[in-house]
Amino acid sequence: MGAQGEKKFELMGIPPEKLGRQFEQIGERKFRAKQLMKWIYAHGNFDFSTMTDIPVSLRQYLAENASITLPEIAEVAGSSDGSTKFLFRLQDGAYVESVYIPDKERGRHTVCLSSQVGCKFGCIFCATGKLGFRRNLTSTEIVGQLYLVREHIRVGGNDLTNVVFMGMGEPLDNLDAVLDAIRVMVADVGFGLGHRKILISTVGIPEGIRKIMQTDVRPKLAISLNAPDDELRSKLMPINKKYPIRTLIELVPEYAKYSRRWVTFEYVLFGGVNDSLEHAHKLVQLIAGLPAKVNLIPYNEVEGIEFRRPDDRDVLRFQSYLLANSIVATIRYSKGRDIHGACGQLAGRFVLKEK
Ligand code: SF4
Repeated sequence: MGAQGEKKFELMGIPPEKLGRQFEQIGERKFRAKQLMKWIYAHGNFDFSTMTDIPVSLRQYLAENASITLPEIAEVAGSSDGSTKFLFRLQDGAYVESVYIPDKERGRHTVCLSSQVGCKFGCIFCATGKLGFRRNLTSTEIVGQLYLVREHIRVGGNDLTNVVFMGMGEPLDNLDAVLDAIRVMVADVGFGLGHRKILISTVGIPEGIRKIMQTDVRPKLAISLNAPDDELRSKLMPINKKYPIRTLIELVPEYAKYSRRWVTFEYVLFGGVNDSLEHAHKLVQLIAGLPAKVNLIPYNEVEGIEFRRPDDRDVLRFQSYLLANSIVATIRYSKGRDIHGACGQLAGRFVLKEK
């Protein structure tokens, strides 16, 4: 592992193309990058001296000049619903979290990743938003989370199937690192995941969505909507003043075509705020006919944030209204409620303790 402060070139989380170019710059053949990635991601071998298909001279060079860096696992907390939350300590002492969410019925093993330390968007219902923004994660730090959680999944006799960017931070605000991390996830010599097994969840930054459509990656997209009109959405999510709902809606058909998957609108239901039939009616009017579905998420109450969980009856009534109006709508109950499962809460505890 590269010691902090040393100028070594990093191997963890660097996509094959980029790593190949780095190898060419040091006079090596490009394909060595893929051989090396196989050792790292398929074999879990970080010891250059035992990478037998790589020339000895290159192994020695790598031992002296390259590093394979993983975050440190600071805490692992299991929940009674089967999910597991990981708190990672990064090299500069910052904390981020990931969550492993198993779904036995559907045979899914999903990892929820963080893309930033804190977040600058300040959605008023969000614990991470309260922390403020500290910095972007590197692709090394993003892939490092996934690498370690996958190890945990494998110990349990399962394998990783899905990745969602729904942890701390806004992935489209750190898009270059997120795209590089995805390139490692989809590479055969990386994690070998299909593009449609990766989902980016965003507050909705139109230029970020457009930028993805100019790249080689095609993740699924979820837009955090949470309100059927600009007035309410701007109260809940200040970013809406800059990018009103219509700027997002107009990109949905294009992105669905690009990713060959429907876009998801996430709609967190807050008791007494956005969960009435009138809101459901407005939502139908807003999104009818779009290649999109709605994920309804009953809010998890968080200490210090004044929103309440909606009544179960209101949640079902909201869903029924959407379904009756030909909108595909599912209810997702957040996993990990008893381990501070909502975004930012675990890291929040640590950050606050540190002060
Ligand atoms: S909901 Fe997402 S974008 Fe909004 S403050 Fe929280 S982490 Fe940031």
